[in-house]
Amino acid sequence: MTESVSTPTSTDIRRVLHDVFGFGGFLPNQSDIVTAILARNDAFVVMPTGGGKSLCYQLPAHMMDGVCMVISPLISLMKDQVDAALATGLRAAFLNSSLSAPQKRRVESQLAGGELDLVYVSPERFAMPEFIALLKRVSLSFVAIDEAHCISEWGHDFRPDYLNLARIITEFPQTSVTAFTATATDRVQQDIVAKLGLRSPHVVRASFNRPNLFYKVIPKEKPSEQILRFVRSHTGESGIVYRTTRKSVEQTADYLARHGIKALPYHAGLDDTARARNQDVFNRDDADVIVATIAFGMGIDKSNVRYVLHGDLPKNIESYYQETGRSGRDGEPAQCLLLFGYGDIPKMRYFIDPIENDDERNRALRCLNDMVRYATIFACRRKQLLNYFGEPYAATGDETCCDICAGQVESVDATRDAQIVLSAIARTGNRFGINHIVAVITGDASDRLRQLGHDRIKTFGVGQDQDKRHWRGLIDNLLAQGIIRQTTGDYPVLQLEAKAQQVLFEGRTIEMLKTQRLAARPARRPAVSSAGPYNAALFDQLRELRRKLATEQGVPPYVVFTDRSLHEMARFFPVDAGDMLRITGVGEFRLARYGGPFMETIRAFRKAHPNVECVDS
Ligand code: ADP
Repeated sequence: MTESVSTPTSTDIRRVLHDVFGFGGFLPNQSDIVTAILARNDAFVVMPTGGGKSLCYQLPAHMMDGVCMVISPLISLMKDQVDAALATGLRAAFLNSSLSAPQKRRVESQLAGGELDLVYVSPERFAMPEFIALLKRVSLSFVAIDEAHCISEWGHDFRPDYLNLARIITEFPQTSVTAFTATATDRVQQDIVAKLGLRSPHVVRASFNRPNLFYKVIPKEKPSEQILRFVRSHTGESGIVYRTTRKSVEQTADYLARHGIKALPYHAGLDDTARARNQDVFNRDDADVIVATIAFGMGIDKSNVRYVLHGDLPKNIESYYQETGRSGRDGEPAQCLLLFGYGDIPKMRYFIDPIENDDERNRALRCLNDMVRYATIFACRRKQLLNYFGEPYAATGDETCCDICAGQVESVDATRDAQIVLSAIARTGNRFGINHIVAVITGDASDRLRQLGHDRIKTFGVGQDQDKRHWRGLIDNLLAQGIIRQTTGDYPVLQLEAKAQQVLFEGRTIEMLKTQRLAARPARRPAVSSAGPYNAALFDQLRELRRKLATEQGVPPYVVFTDRSLHEMARFFPVDAGDMLRITGVGEFRLARYGGPFMETIRAFRKAHPNVECVDS
C-alpha cells in the first residue's frame, strides 16, 4: 500500500483516483460512499449495474491500513475481479474452493503478512471457523459485501449461506461494513440492514437511470432476419440476444452462425461445461454474440456488451431492466432493442393462465400488461422504466434517450379519438372503468349500460369503426401521458386530469405509435462514444491488440482496457505517457503494464494515415 494516511484529505483522494485508477472525477455518489468508508462508517449502497461500485471499495482499500475483505457470491467471477484489481496495480487475491492447497497457503500467508489491499472470499469461506481465526490475526480495514440482496428472502436471489454474514459484526465489532447491491426495494433494504446488523449506516440510493443505454422497440416480423440485420450492423461489437425457449436459442444461434456471425448458445439444457465454455469464449471477445435464455444472468461481469436484443417479450419490466442493464457497464453507449409482436402475448398466457393462485396469476397478468404497454405506447421508454421503479423522470426529448424521443418511430395523430375517449369519460361522470368506457364508444350495449342510459349519450357508438384493442391502447396512452388517471382499489375507474381540458378545448394534440409494419431500419454502427466521435478503424486495431494481449495473459479483454479507454485513444491518438495518462481508465500501473504496444499501434496508424486527424483537433 502506498498510502497509510489516517484521515486522507480530498486532495489525497483525488490524486489516488487519478494516478491509480486513471479517472478524472467521481461518478455520481462515489465520493460520498468513499468518504463514509474512509471515516469507518457502515454504509448501504443501492447503485445500478455500471454505476461504479467496485471503485467505492477499491479506492478506500488502497488508502487504508489493513486488508479489505470483499464478500462475493460467485466463485466464477472472483478471478476476473482480482485480475481487474491487479491490472489497476492493487494488491489483491481471492480465497475459494478453486485454489490448490499450495495456492491457498500462499494467499493465507500474504494475508497474514499484511501484503494485500483486498481479499475476495465467498460467504461459505467466511463460515469456516479456521478462516475466522485467521482473520482475527490480521488487520481488517473494512468489509465490503457485494450483491448484498442475496441475504434477503424478499429479494430475488436469496442465498441461505449469506445469512451467516450476520456474524461479521458480532465477530469483528470494530470493523465497518458496507453492503452493495444493484437491486433493492425499500423492504429488501430494511431486511438487509437488519440482518447484517449495520449500525446507523450511511445510505445511498442512486438513480436507476442508465443514461448511456438507448431503448428501442420494433414490430416483430421475421425475428431471425431482424436479429441478423441488427447484429450485422454492429459487427465487431459484443452483444447478448435473449430468446424465451431453448429451442429458439439454438435456432437463432445456428441461423447467425450460418450467416457468418460468431454466435454461441447458452441455456439451462446445455451441460455445465458447455455453458461455462460458451460464456468464457464470449467473455474473451472470441465470440461476438451469445444467444441465451434468461439462464444467462448473474455472473456476467463483461463490461463491453454493446447491445442487448430481446427477440421475444420479457416476462416483466423488472426482468427487462435487469437484462438490458447487462449492456454498457463501462458507461459507453449501448443499444437495447426489443422485438415486439402481439403474437407473443398468447404464448405468455399459456404459462400464466394455469397458475392456480388468483393473486399470483393476477400479478403475472399485470406484469405482462405493463410490458405490453412499455412496447406499445407513445411515451419515452426511459421514463416508463424509471416510473416503474417509482423514480420520476422528466423526458428531455433528448435523442440519446429512446426511439420515441429520437423521432425514430412513426406516430399517428390520435387527437380526434382521444377527444372521443375523454368525452365518454366526462359524460358518464368519471365513474366507470376501462371496459365500460370502451363499450360505450364501440356501441356495445349491455343491459346494464342501457339501464344507466349510456346508450343515449352523444359518444355512444361513435368509435364502431375501430376494434376494442385500438381503444384500449389509446386509453393506455392517455394514462401514460397523464391526460387521464385510473383510481386504485377493487373497481378502478377512469377520471380526467386537468390536462384533458387542453385536449378537449385548447388544441393540444395526442400522438399514438403506429405499430403496424414499421420498417426495421438497421441501426448504423455509431463511431461515437460518451467522449464524442472516434476513429472506427483505429478502434478496431486497438480492440484486436487488446484481445491478443488478454488471451496471452488469460484475462478478459476489458481487464486490459475498457471500451471507454479504447474509444478515447481512438479519438485523441495519445502517443506519449503524458497524453496516455489523460485517457479515462489509464492509471500509472496500467500505463506501465500495457501502454507501450497501444502507443506503438497508434503511432503506426498515424504514419499509415498521415491525413487522418485525431478527432478532437
Ligand atoms: P458496477 O459494479 O456498479 O456494475 P463497475 O464497478 O463495474 O460497476 O464500474 C462500471 C464502469 O465504470 C467500469 O468500466 C469502470 O471502469 C467505470 N468507472 C468506475 N468509476 C469511474 C469513474 N470515477 N470515472 C469513470 N469511469 C468509472
